[in-house]
Amino acid sequence: MSDGGSRAMVEALKGLLGSDRVFTGGPEARAASADESDLGSVEPLGVVRPREAPEVAAIVGLALEHGVPLTARGAGTSLEGSSIPSPGAVVVDFSAMDAVAELVPEEQRVTVGPGIVYERLNRLLQPHGLFFPPSPGGSADAATVGGMVSTDASGIYALKYGGTRRWVLALDVVTGRGDSMRVGRVVPKTSAGYDLKDLFVGAEGTLGLITSVTLRLAPLPPEARKAGFVFDDLAGACAAAAEMAAFIPEMAALELCDAETLDLLRALPAYASLPSGHALFVEAHGRADDCVQGVEAAAAVAASHQGRPLPPGLPDPWEMRHRTTGVIRESARPRGVVRTDCAVPLRRLADFVAEAKTRAARRARTLHVFGHVGLGILHLLMPLAGPGAWTRDEALAEKRRLALAAISVGGTSSGEHGVGLGNRDLLPAEHPVGLAYMRGLKSLFDPHGLMNPGKVLPGP
Ligand SMILES: Cc1cc2nc3c(=O)[nH]c(=O)nc-3n(C[C@H](O)[C@H](O)[C@H](O)COP(=O)(O)OP(=O)(O)OC[C@H]3O[C@@H](n4cnc5c(N)ncnc54)[C@H](O)[C@@H]3O)c2cc1C
Repeated sequence: MSDGGSRAMVEALKGLLGSDRVFTGGPEARAASADESDLGSVEPLGVVRPREAPEVAAIVGLALEHGVPLTARGAGTSLEGSSIPSPGAVVVDFSAMDAVAELVPEEQRVTVGPGIVYERLNRLLQPHGLFFPPSPGGSADAATVGGMVSTDASGIYALKYGGTRRWVLALDVVTGRGDSMRVGRVVPKTSAGYDLKDLFVGAEGTLGLITSVTLRLAPLPPEARKAGFVFDDLAGACAAAAEMAAFIPEMAALELCDAETLDLLRALPAYASLPSGHALFVEAHGRADDCVQGVEAAAAVAASHQGRPLPPGLPDPWEMRHRTTGVIRESARPRGVVRTDCAVPLRRLADFVAEAKTRAARRARTLHVFGHVGLGILHLLMPLAGPGAWTRDEALAEKRRLALAAISVGGTSSGEHGVGLGNRDLLPAEHPVGLAYMRGLKSLFDPHGLMNPGKVLPGP
């Protein structure tokens, strides 16, 4: 697009929103140029901060008129580059659209602006005995509901409650054609036609922009009980996790943290008393008796795989677990990490992890393994600096190999972080026939290719 076209777009946006909500250059544009991946940055043409749906529709109208791409942004915590601006794009920052529009506790539903932050929403719901469960781990205090819907985010409680998709009833969207529409209904079930709403869940802003989200809510569990176990053998920890997930119905969360990652946590003063080994953290939900029974059953399974309880007095397991991504990235400065969040069927978990570790060890490389193992979701992180560092080429080749291995056993290249830029080239292997249908849907909803172009779908 010509400089003249870009200038005309910026002037038109200022005319629409006023100069105080259109940012070109400066700290706002720099802050919106990257996400939490290590996949680089792109300074956007500008950043706009709409306050209501009609403004979003008008922004899409201007993008169509001037041929300027748009990249939606919640909090920018994506780990696969999905919120890095497309080249030449205007970033539509949804942080000001964060109101609760309607809360109907007796129907267990809420309608919110897409910019509301996950933890804030749950704080508002707590007095009503309700919550939105997925819990995206270490980003729960920042990730927005719009970003979670657009990546189909999950997290520690997705084992019992499922990921974001399960809780989305309806969305108001502006498509890449400029149409405003509601997809989905506020009732819990509909059989009326193709499910357009589910197409927007996980679309990473490539089909259109979400201006409102209606969620179903879960009742808060009457009781919760946490425990942790440590194993000398990683395959044993994985086998125990698979058994707990399959046979202990009270399990709400089931997380793995391997020894290399625990070593980094132990270096922090608060966690100095962590034992060495591979850890499983669990949480049971239900009535008090059920929770006790669930944790006792988990302890029995752990013991049958030579696991032992973590010593008492350690900090909250989720507080530790939520710091894993941060400590690993810190250890890999200044180059960062290459990651995959592939997922495998539970019965493949132990072999998959053991083989990945053996391959890394053979080359004297560090491979961090943690994740929502109750769902088979593994976060495998390869540091590009520090002890056991991989070269970027080696790590990218290994990421591809791991993801293809996961796909070959029926798993997926991304359990929850999405495709963005980092997993794009894996899509043909996972959807050899489906990819053409995905391209057809993209051109139906976004015929001019202006909605977060370059994300999700690989080049032709
Ligand atoms: C420390 C850490 C831990 C994490 N843990 C987890 C985890 O446990 N589980 C998990 O699933 N993820 C996790 N993530 C990844 C990330 O937090 C999630 O993907 C989250 O859902 C992104 O939300 P966001 O508001 O930051 O979205 P952004 O990064 O801003 O955007 C993500 C995608 O959504 C699109 N988008 C945003 N808003 C809209 C909108 N209104 N309309 C259309 N498209 C939109 C963007 O264009 C982009 O494609 C973690 C990230 C970090 C940094």
